[in-house]
Amino acid sequence: MFTWFNRKCDFCKRKLKKPSKYIDVNDREINVCYQCVPQAERKALRKKN
Ligand SMILES: [Zn+2]
Repeated sequence: MFTWFNRKCDFCKRKLKKPSKYIDVNDREINVCYQCVPQAERKALRKKN
């Protein structure tokens, strides 16, 4: 079972420190670290809150 502290960023695959949740083109929830948020924004992914 996943818990918040061992999730990994779906872009860089590193551990998440300040994860943001986005919805990808396949309607799946992905976790994005703060460093990769610009990439997610560039891909026009929807932010989940
Ligand atoms: Zn990342």
